[in-house]
Amino acid sequence: MSLVRYQNFIHGTYLANTTNEVFDVRNPATDEVIYQVEVADERIQQAAIESAKKGVAQWSAMTGVERSRVLLKAVALLRERNDELARIEVLDTGKPWQEASVVDVVTGADSIEFFAGLAATIEGNQQDLGGDFYYTRREPLGICAGIGAWNYPLQIACWKSAPALACGNVMIFKPSEETPLGALKLAEIFIEAGVPAGVFNVVQGAAEVGQWLTQHPDIEKVSFTGEVGTGKKVMAAAAASNLKDVTMELGGKSPLIIFDDSDVEEAVSGAMLANFYTQGEVCTNGTRVFVQRGIYASFMDQLKARTEANIVLGDPMDPETNMGALISKKHQELVLGYIQSGKQQGATLVTGGDAVSPTSAPNGYFVAPTIFTDCNDEMTIVKEEIFGPVMSVLVFDDEEEVIRRANDTHLGLAAGVFTQDIRRAHRVIHQINAGICWINAYGASPAEMPVGGYKQSGIGRENGIETLKHYTQIKAVYVGMNKLESPF
Ligand code: NDP
Repeated sequence: MSLVRYQNFIHGTYLANTTNEVFDVRNPATDEVIYQVEVADERIQQAAIESAKKGVAQWSAMTGVERSRVLLKAVALLRERNDELARIEVLDTGKPWQEASVVDVVTGADSIEFFAGLAATIEGNQQDLGGDFYYTRREPLGICAGIGAWNYPLQIACWKSAPALACGNVMIFKPSEETPLGALKLAEIFIEAGVPAGVFNVVQGAAEVGQWLTQHPDIEKVSFTGEVGTGKKVMAAAAASNLKDVTMELGGKSPLIIFDDSDVEEAVSGAMLANFYTQGEVCTNGTRVFVQRGIYASFMDQLKARTEANIVLGDPMDPETNMGALISKKHQELVLGYIQSGKQQGATLVTGGDAVSPTSAPNGYFVAPTIFTDCNDEMTIVKEEIFGPVMSVLVFDDEEEVIRRANDTHLGLAAGVFTQDIRRAHRVIHQINAGICWINAYGASPAEMPVGGYKQSGIGRENGIETLKHYTQIKAVYVGMNKLESPF
């Protein structure tokens, strides 16, 4: 049986490439190739730019209310097709249906709804200067590129396109080649909703296609989600080409701090969410779990018991499954390599530690939820982002110590604190160098709340009103009302 073959989505329709080059996409839970996708060759790349130029001329001339109206239709279509889209995300990523059906499409649609609501509020200001005055216009940047990671493919495409489009820009989006289908479905939905052709094009391929986007002189901005190392390359190319603006959503190694006075059950829930949700493939994961000595024993007892009893690995489409397969065989091996290094460097394995072959999905790339204790700050598993279900537990004694240790990293994406002491909660969070923080919670990321990292975890923000600034530029206009005086 021949495989379904998807093309690039350019100017409102699917467009064939000329080189005939394709790549395979595998279902991580079965190891089977499920479809193929055409690579964006030169023909596609040129067509994407020509289309985006036409798109931006039309879209940026529309009013905020007009843009909002069509974006809201796209939101309605996303919600209507929630299950169909969630299924695509499960097959592409290996994450459980339990999550994808209530989070991935919903949070993507929420972001578009949020920015559609803001589209008509984008405004400049005016100030009197004693007769003369100046005013500002908040203008779109033009053609933006979006480059996505594979863990939340549709959500990332929505989070990037929502503010870009609301502000009157257009976007050429490249999803990860591991998970290319969600963005194509979003492109179809935008067209169906009435977004003009050329406003959201999707180009497919690996790093070369991403590089082409970051180097293109007609692209004014690149919004990137991925690893720190790739982010640095993207920024260098963006600067070298035409000094593009950048938004960088990069990796993390976030601290989760649990004080003695925490509700143990809640703290364990927080730690499990912060490590095992989406099988650990979440950028904001709180993988360095700092536990205060007094609560350590009861915390570990509950953590081990609940991890062993309540986590169900298996066919991700089974509604009972709450932890899925990792994205690829290669990534599974990488995660197992980190687990090996944890053992070698003297951490104690509390549970997990191996690849798993569940009966309902024996060929999938599963790794058991893994907990290490007796960790120290120098171990590789404590220093590096693993992007898998591997938790490192570290013990601490006092507040000053844990703040210092939590901040001892070049990353600064997220952080969490569990405590019943309201003053301590805020005092500690205010001293942590991280962009996304939770108190007595972990992982929630509503469209209203800005997300983005400190230090090498990123530049700029997604979601939240704040993000409008990253997709517009200010034009200041001075108006002379008095006779112009000149020394010449
Ligand atoms: P990568 O950095 O490997 O890839 C990200 C994207 O960049 C992919 O589409 C990739 O293409 C593309 N790419 C690769 N090389 C280049 C290049 N030189 N120029 C332009 N584009 C390029 O990240 P992963 O996909 O492995 O995603 C995991 C990472 O993403 C983790 O570090 C995670 O923390 C981070 N992340 C951050 C988030 C945040 O909001 N802060 C959210 C989600 C993930 P292809 O893969 O097709 O080769």
